[in-house]
Amino acid sequence: MRRTTLVALLAVGAIVVGGGGFVIGSQLMPPGGGEPRRTASPTASPSPSERATVPPLAKAWADRPSVDLRYDIARDHESAKGVATASFTPDKRVCDALIFRSWPNKPEIADHGGSMTVHRATVDGRKVTPAYERKGAPAATQGTLLRLPLRDCVAAGSTVEARISFTVEMARRSGERVGTNGTGEMWLASAYPVLAWERGHGWMTQPAVDVFGEMDGTEEFRLELDVVAPRGDTVLGMGRPLGTSNGPREGTTRHRFAADPVRNVAVGIGGYRVTTREIAGVRTRVGVSDDGSLATANDWLDKIELELGRLEGRFGRFPYRDLWVTVIPDTTGIEFPGAIFYGDYSAQEVRGGDLVAHELAHMWFYGLVGNDQGRDPWLDESFATYAQALADDQAFLYRQPMDVPSFAANRVGEPMTYWERNPDTYGAGVYRQGAQMLFEARQRAGEQRWDAAMRAYLADNAHRIVRPEDFVDAVDHLPGAVETLRRYGAVE
Ligand SMILES: [Zn+2]
Repeated sequence: MRRTTLVALLAVGAIVVGGGGFVIGSQLMPPGGGEPRRTASPTASPSPSERATVPPLAKAWADRPSVDLRYDIARDHESAKGVATASFTPDKRVCDALIFRSWPNKPEIADHGGSMTVHRATVDGRKVTPAYERKGAPAATQGTLLRLPLRDCVAAGSTVEARISFTVEMARRSGERVGTNGTGEMWLASAYPVLAWERGHGWMTQPAVDVFGEMDGTEEFRLELDVVAPRGDTVLGMGRPLGTSNGPREGTTRHRFAADPVRNVAVGIGGYRVTTREIAGVRTRVGVSDDGSLATANDWLDKIELELGRLEGRFGRFPYRDLWVTVIPDTTGIEFPGAIFYGDYSAQEVRGGDLVAHELAHMWFYGLVGNDQGRDPWLDESFATYAQALADDQAFLYRQPMDVPSFAANRVGEPMTYWERNPDTYGAGVYRQGAQMLFEARQRAGEQRWDAAMRAYLADNAHRIVRPEDFVDAVDHLPGAVETLRRYGAVE
């Protein structure tokens, strides 16, 4: 995710743009605003044809869960009914309960009228009575944590199946991942019962916090997605489209998709116009509202093509065969595996800002190498900020002295529960200071050795959830690297 407050506070990445205005972060500033002109070198990045060589990636979890997710979209685009069936083969014995998270009940969504309500659940075909925990959710909701009681323990390596039916209500003007614009489009992500398992460790039960940002974590799974939408709607899905057929009711169409492996589900539904472009082997689709958008789909695709090439030059092949982009109002950008929600920006902002590259960078740092975004937000946000700046030759922005509020100084590794106490410092503390830390470590370690270690980190930790010690393992052979991470408070 890209944070608006970060942009306002920090003025990262000022780039001269064509019309004499400045794009600062993703926010367009008028000319003459006093920001010094800094122009990134347009030629130093590897060209799109030079994809970095990365060691062979670790394989996806062979026993990863399978999720069959069905949405039935309301005609008014205000809600969706859902049924999720998850087959789960834990790598450690599980007793007492299966734990799922209901992220539409997090404060930023629930305070704008969004919610997720579970109606029925079964475990291995047997009806169960779920238990709900607030875990940071407003009292009017069912909470963000859902327990399905187990009659017997599930042994490591044996499979249990949970089936949960639920309703998702869309939020209005929240800028978050579950919303409707009231004029025929809606979008929803993390909007199903999310299995909260972390391989090798157990359940992820961090509370939701009242911060505009991610706080979830999930292992990858095999997804089959089935969306019943009003006839005439466009559906931006996940992975590979498997075609459409008549829906179960008059005036509906069923849209089917399959994606594997992914660690979240994001869908855009309604009056979207979709433009498709094959970019370096990635089928890229951009959907903009048929009511109009500030930039055209081709403005977005041109920028995606440029930045995807630059990022591949640093970090190797884009991790997904398909990329689905939905342009939505009131937000900056939110990343999902092989899918992105971008805010409705002008063509000039799209071209000149760092937003497109930031979210694309998350496909490596969040998508390919996952993390618990509540416990270790720096493991994707510091890295995505760093990766964007590296790809766009803006490292110099992070080598200058930086004003970081004392609450955030040398606290890069804090969890979201810490940032909730002072949310306005989250961007400075994790995004900008975190990127500064990584660039400093890179300089001390030697750029080539650091870059090789970063590519090895991506390869060795592909398709799993990392913890800070995994990054320490990746760089502790480099001089000064771990000392730098410690000094900034990223690791102990
Ligand atoms: Zn981000």
